[in-house]
Amino acid sequence: MTQQGARASAVPVRLHGVTKRYGSTVAVAGLDLEVQTAEVFALLGPNGAGKTTTVEMCEGFIRPDTGTVEILGLDPGADNARLRERIGVMLQGGGGYPAARAGEMLNLVASYAADPLDPAWLMDTLGLTEAARTTYRRLSGGQQQRLALACAVVGRPELVFLDEPTAGMDAHARIVVWELIDALRRDGVTVMLTTHQLTEAEELADRIMIIDHGRPVATGTPDELMRSGAENQLRFRAPRMLDLSLLVSALPESYRATETAPGEYLIEGAINPQVLATVTAWCARLDVLATDMRVEQRSLEDVFLELTGRELRP
Ligand code: ATP
Repeated sequence: MTQQGARASAVPVRLHGVTKRYGSTVAVAGLDLEVQTAEVFALLGPNGAGKTTTVEMCEGFIRPDTGTVEILGLDPGADNARLRERIGVMLQGGGGYPAARAGEMLNLVASYAADPLDPAWLMDTLGLTEAARTTYRRLSGGQQQRLALACAVVGRPELVFLDEPTAGMDAHARIVVWELIDALRRDGVTVMLTTHQLTEAEELADRIMIIDHGRPVATGTPDELMRSGAENQLRFRAPRMLDLSLLVSALPESYRATETAPGEYLIEGAINPQVLATVTAWCARLDVLATDMRVEQRSLEDVFLELTGRELRP
């Protein structure tokens, strides 16, 4: 792939105060968000959180009730024709022609673009070469998904919307898709994706917005989210009944140090390199060797549960 250059100077995605209702259901409730150029931005949330509705408003398929949506500086509803060549859309469930062969379908989509990627290369990259002559209806669900992704990116869009891009794929296919998304980012393409897979958001996204009931509950880099709010902890083994008072006095006040079982120690608080050094210095002073030392970091799953009180998984 080649560089996209500076085609896009406007912010790729900008939502301000966006609300969408379906009857009494508020699908999206006053959402503000911005996605920057060449960023992979993940909207993460459980079923019904409002992810698809948000993306469909960005794609121009539905209009917000209130608020504004700007895509590459344009209105996705009114300027749909101008945007069509500049954005790539991968729909949930594929959306191919049942009787068309996979390779033909991609070639057809490529033929509409001024400067498409090489369809054969894309088929190969996504592990679809062997399925090129298979009709769409006979492709497996994962192959249909990968073909939908190929169709979304073959025209070298500046911005790509991916709704649950790896839903229903096996581990190998998922990694192939992740690698392609990574390549898009390196090529300067902006990617907005929705997922309820934490590993996918952690693996791919530069920034994540966690939404629930149509509202953002947290936004940040995967690292920021995992470090936010609650503490992580440090566990290690050492001889039993060590005097913890010296350690407690060397640590900042809010930290707790306990022997949870004979010879098993737990330090609770934000574990940073200084805290680690304090603990090992205390061990050295007592002339004891700490073993099995590990910092237990929170996962995005913990963050989500803490912020919403709900499990992320359907
Ligand atoms: P999923 O992970 O299941 O795809 P989501 O986060 O994408 O969920 P949305 O599909 O945006 O969530 O749905 C948000 C809310 O709006 C849900 O309560 C859903 O039932 C409702 N909703 C979405 N589309 C419609 C529609 N066309 N008519 C009525 N209600 C809808």
